[in-house]
Amino acid sequence: MHPFEYHRAPDPEGAVNALGPKGKFLAGGTNLIDLMKQQVETPARLVDINRLELARIHELPDGGLRLGALARNAETAAHPLVRERYPMLARAILAGASPQLRNMATNGGNLLQRTRCYYFYDPAYTQCNKRDPGSGCAAIGGFNRIHAILGASPSCIATQPSDMCVALAALEAVVRVQGRRGGRTIAFADFHRLPGNTPQIDTNLRPDELVLSIDLPKSLYAEHSAYVKVRDRQSYAFALVSAAAGLELSGGTIRSARLAVGGVALKPWRSEEAEALLVGKPANRMSYQAAAERALTGAKTYEHNAFKVEMAKETILRAFTLAQENGSQV
Ligand code: SF4
Repeated sequence: MHPFEYHRAPDPEGAVNALGPKGKFLAGGTNLIDLMKQQVETPARLVDINRLELARIHELPDGGLRLGALARNAETAAHPLVRERYPMLARAILAGASPQLRNMATNGGNLLQRTRCYYFYDPAYTQCNKRDPGSGCAAIGGFNRIHAILGASPSCIATQPSDMCVALAALEAVVRVQGRRGGRTIAFADFHRLPGNTPQIDTNLRPDELVLSIDLPKSLYAEHSAYVKVRDRQSYAFALVSAAAGLELSGGTIRSARLAVGGVALKPWRSEEAEALLVGKPANRMSYQAAAERALTGAKTYEHNAFKVEMAKETILRAFTLAQENGSQV
């Protein structure tokens, strides 16, 4: 591991000011420390933010919910208001990692975890534009079974690994951040970036900005929502494909819908086109199949991941079906 300075921050302002040009914030450390051991991340300074008062989960005046950036994933999934009003989110969090990791990992850190592309994690492979811009992409001509089918570029075909973020995209969360120039909010749809020509930049967070909270709007989807994850083994595995689906129903008709797909792109793949297609339609298999087709429009596959297209469609169909039936149970 490269040597680094350690600094414990007293408050968000102190944390932001202490970061410096090659610093990283340290919260749960469940991804960052692994990457430092592999020498993929080599920060000159770690600013420990664990003692900041950012762990509260509480109701907002408009009926929404604020998830503190330092609330642990486990306590977020278990929180009564999350379970009651955003069961899709509780399910997504519980589908991720292991109990031990969920006890350590924070909400803010979950947003910032980096891709699990094998080539990114292994510096023995010299071609990785995300790790070393301009070096190429070993995955495009290599083993690409877990890689993206939507929104990729000739520079990078990695996927974003978070389950929680897929639900947050469907729920239209807002990320509240603070930097040296003050605070701002970022709509969840704008938080993560597609690779384009700059795959080394994962998010639109500025280098000095700290995540304070994730704010959820009042939920219309508490009664009918689901998170479905398909993976190689039943626990402690990243999604090959996942889907977060919400339905607002009036009798047998869909008033509104939400859909985000995971494991298919370098950001949670929200499909507003698929959602729009469902409005006013009967809540049935045919409508969900049409939405799934629309969500996968433009999919592009590589040598080993063509199976993901059909898998994603089936996963979306299953998520909407479960949402209609009993998806509100956690
Ligand atoms: Fe690196 Fe992205 Fe290519 Fe993986 S897919 S090797 S992360 S550039």
